[in-house]
Amino acid sequence: MALRDIVGQEKALRIFFGALRRNRVPSAILLSGDAGIGKRLAAINYAKAINCVHPIDLDCCDKCNSCKKIDAGIHLDVSIIIPENDEIRIEVIRRIEESLSLKASEGKKKVIIIEGAEAMNIYAANAFLKTLEEPSPDDLIMLISSNPDMLLDTIRSRCINIRFYPLPLDKCRDVISKNIKAEEMDFMLNLSMGRPGFAMSGNFKKEREWFMELLNDMIYQALRKSKNRWADKGEIKLWLDMASILLRDIVVFKITCKEDAILLNSKLRVTDNSLINDDKSKGLPLAARCSMSGILSAHQELQRIRGLLDFNLNKSITWNYVSTVMRQAIKGSKMEGINA
Ligand SMILES: [Zn+2]
Repeated sequence: MALRDIVGQEKALRIFFGALRRNRVPSAILLSGDAGIGKRLAAINYAKAINCVHPIDLDCCDKCNSCKKIDAGIHLDVSIIIPENDEIRIEVIRRIEESLSLKASEGKKKVIIIEGAEAMNIYAANAFLKTLEEPSPDDLIMLISSNPDMLLDTIRSRCINIRFYPLPLDKCRDVISKNIKAEEMDFMLNLSMGRPGFAMSGNFKKEREWFMELLNDMIYQALRKSKNRWADKGEIKLWLDMASILLRDIVVFKITCKEDAILLNSKLRVTDNSLINDDKSKGLPLAARCSMSGILSAHQELQRIRGLLDFNLNKSITWNYVSTVMRQAIKGSKMEGINA
């Protein structure tokens, strides 16, 4: 594929191509927006366009040696950094600095793509800031983040911020149609909420079921009976991320649909169930029980807890606390069993 094949991110593409046209590619770009909407693909294909040997209308040819090597992850001048155990350490930033101090060996520009950039710990972030302070026109650093608020302000302000948005449903359908069975399409479209990367990750459905199971446990079990079910920190993070998505989905649903319609209109209710409820779960749709302010403060609280996880929070205490937050967000759920 090429950069122009990125679906549903016209605004971002205009900025990317605009810089290529003026031959003024910035030295640091932050690609922000939800997970699963094409940030990584865009970054890789931008690196291809910049380094392509035979570019076509500013875009990459997708055929030359350089394009092929970048796609295969073996181009000497294009590196992709991903967090290890949810963390980017200072050693990694030092390696980046070292690599940037050398001239591009086979491409036109050195490109460093840092996925999950918010995972930089404070030492790494401070070291990285110095890298950003002395930009070279021969380098391009692309930060990818679905949680840009967790980056240092000083890092954010030194990057050109290119925002990515969830795709309209018809475009999302186009992207996932090759990977999703026709009979699962509507279900996956509703679940993924315009994030094709989610729908296509093999584990998405399973993770969603796991998330809902634990949420049901938190909300419907008597508080004293509800016991921690997270195996490790990674599971807590994944769960909190999914909870944030759930809360966001509820907000979107509340803004776009009338709340009483959810209760009265069976068609909308089905949508509601597949959107934010486990298929089998009954009772009031979740969205109908939540107040907007309750969801927003719960969302903030979950983000705060996620940020604190690196300080080795006790799993059981975290479980109990998150349970309380979710119970408060989902009004009137305290006394109801899952089949009530
Ligand atoms: Zn090429």
